[in-house]
Amino acid sequence: MLIKIAENLYGFIWNDTRQNNCNTYLITGRPNIIIDPGHRHLVQHVHRGLASLRIAPEDIGVVIATHCHPDHFEAARSFGRTTLFGMGAKEYGLVGASGYLSVPPPDFLIQEGELVLGETRFTVIETPGHSPASICLFEPGMRALFAGDVVFENGIGRSDLPGGDGAALKKSIQALSRLNAAYLLSGHGTVVAGNDAVAANFRVVEESWFRYL
Ligand SMILES: [Zn+2]
Repeated sequence: MLIKIAENLYGFIWNDTRQNNCNTYLITGRPNIIIDPGHRHLVQHVHRGLASLRIAPEDIGVVIATHCHPDHFEAARSFGRTTLFGMGAKEYGLVGASGYLSVPPPDFLIQEGELVLGETRFTVIETPGHSPASICLFEPGMRALFAGDVVFENGIGRSDLPGGDGAALKKSIQALSRLNAAYLLSGHGTVVAGNDAVAANFRVVEESWFRYL
């Protein structure tokens, strides 16, 4: 389901409980940027949403994957021939480069800190815990936090998968909570919108889940 979240910001929200796929996000601009394209065999829902916005797959300039799980990165090469694919340098080095998960070799690797893609600027935060070195992206203009599988509406990412680490996940979530995001855009579940709602969600997560980490 395609939703408009804010000006130039869209979500392709995945809510088919029979299949595991992630939410995909689109920032329109120069370039158009997709975050977490999802599974390859399910990418048609993204293409349909793009078509309704009159955006062709070739018009996507950059695809970013938050981490090396197939339900996030697999469709990275399902856009244009010139679409660039980027992911966290550390995550790719630790997981992707092994070849075990068939991660497409990225065109560029992302370091923690500032990432400038044309007219869009992100702060990249390394957030280990769900995966060894997943990244979250914060866009300060909209105060939009692309959180991957680190934190959700009323939930946290699994830390029992290979390379997961509960203590690291807790620290990562605490770092994200300090960003004062206005949009929490997670890899699964519902978008949380509004400063107060996002802050309240971090409080609920801390109270409900941190004792298990
Ligand atoms: Zn994941």
